[in-house]
Amino acid sequence: MARETRHQATTVEKRETSINGQTITYTVKRSLRARYVRLEVRRQTGLTVVVPRSYKIGQLPGLLESKERWISSNLARCGNFQSPYAEKELGSGDTVPYIGRDLKLVKRENHSEVDSVALEGNTLAVSPILFRNGTLELALEHWYRAEAARLIGERAHKLSAQMSVSYKSITIRGQKTRWGSCSHKKNLSFNWKLLMAPEPVIDYVVIHELAHLEEMNHSKRFWELVAQHCHRWRECKEWLKQHEANLTAKLCP
Ligand SMILES: [Zn+2]
Repeated sequence: MARETRHQATTVEKRETSINGQTITYTVKRSLRARYVRLEVRRQTGLTVVVPRSYKIGQLPGLLESKERWISSNLARCGNFQSPYAEKELGSGDTVPYIGRDLKLVKRENHSEVDSVALEGNTLAVSPILFRNGTLELALEHWYRAEAARLIGERAHKLSAQMSVSYKSITIRGQKTRWGSCSHKKNLSFNWKLLMAPEPVIDYVVIHELAHLEEMNHSKRFWELVAQHCHRWRECKEWLKQHEANLTAKLCP
């Protein structure tokens, strides 16, 4: 098992940015361990941007601008900021997260099906009828659930073979507080909102549940088994912790 190095040498600096016309102070942490940029919003500390050692600070304004909506809605959730999006329903032109990227919602008539959601590159083409009276969230959830069943099914099939474990069934659920579960009867369940996470994070959750087929606990042996198949499990676990509130609130009425 590859052990992670423990040195946490981190430099910290305060900077200012404008988010939706409001100036906010945020913290930049340069971390030797970080492999990619991570945004965190906490009640006590506000916005923190953790960047890898080699990251060019000049890229930060562009990055923050592209994440403006995420930042303002999370600061609003923590009581730090008045979000113009907090109460807003999803509409055409908005984006939704999908396997580590953002998909833009576009209104598009589909002649074969009146109420369809279709993935086309980085856009999600949605029938105009679904934009009426609050059906969009439901239609999107339906689409995410189907995608989750397909993708998580494929990953579990492949990873279970690698791990030499077998399961009985996979169910896609919409649990409020869980990403996945594994029963004593070897039935697995996964949250459809996992599809909003990057691929390595999805794999981590699948590996985590598959590892429970061997170890029905969170013992040292369990984590060793997870680490054998997912070297970045700590990072993925942390990612879920950081994004949990945001992801589990997404598309929920
Ligand atoms: Zn577990």
